[in-house]
Amino acid sequence: MSNDLLASGVILRFEAFAVENIPLVRKGHDLAQIICERTDILDEDIIIIASTIVGKAEGRTFSPDDITPGAEAIEISKHIQFTPEFIQAVLDRSREYLISSPVLLVEMKNGHICINAGIDESNVEGEMLLELPADSDASAEYIGKRIESYTGKQISVIITDTNGRAFKRGQTGVAVGVYRIHPLKDWRGQKDMFGKELKITEEAIADEIAGAANLLMGEGSDGCPVVIIRGLSLRSKDDTSVKEMYRSDEEDLIKKSLKYLRDRR
Ligand code: GDP
Ligand code: MN
Ligand code: MN
Repeated sequence: MSNDLLASGVILRFEAFAVENIPLVRKGHDLAQIICERTDILDEDIIIIASTIVGKAEGRTFSPDDITPGAEAIEISKHIQFTPEFIQAVLDRSREYLISSPVLLVEMKNGHICINAGIDESNVEGEMLLELPADSDASAEYIGKRIESYTGKQISVIITDTNGRAFKRGQTGVAVGVYRIHPLKDWRGQKDMFGKELKITEEAIADEIAGAANLLMGEGSDGCPVVIIRGLSLRSKDDTSVKEMYRSDEEDLIKKSLKYLRDRR
């Protein structure tokens, strides 16, 4: 078969593998050390880490019993199957809510929009809840820099969570924090196969990588919170942030519509 259509320098293969034998993570664990002790890291590796274990290592578990709900949380609880305490915990981590029933969709303080502010009870011991890292970019940078100093290699980190999507059933891994990888790849200005200029496409590479890694992580008892993707050449020399992905209030038509509906009620 002829390969005449392949552009020069195109990458045809990458490798994804899970880091085995990660322990049950507890507050104070050094995730960088845990990862480096269990696998060899190479330059340009992308290390994908489930937010669940980052939250656990940072000690971000809490009990709903310690929360005093305010009037807004009590009002919302009349229309959704959550306790006022849980709703208050979600509101405390949000800039504002966009939908309050039958799901609680919020914009978090860094611009990430998700259900329940990412607060979760799955894969957490006992009756405790777990929140996302307060600043997942900062957490990714902290872990990434430690991995670089342990190994002497230059790597990227993506912290992921499982999120639903608008318009479609099914959840997928998404990036909630990045270190040294831009979440978007800008194709604008490049040419298609027929020389036409691409005008719109920004490829959501961090979410694509998160989705690929999530195939190995699973959602249940797999015990597989760290995946390495090797063979893509995507490391950035500059600082990067998931905020590069989020649309401004002005730009985001769906956010605007949801706020309009919310405020009409
Ligand atoms: P999220 O997508 O970040 O909310 O994380 P999930 O709860 O979906 O878990 C992702 C993966 O990490 C699954 O394979 C879990 O079994 C695994 N996992 C979660 N916590 C731990 C832990 O403390 N230790 C280990 N080894 N695996 C964990
Ligand atoms: Mn989660
Ligand atoms: Mn998950």
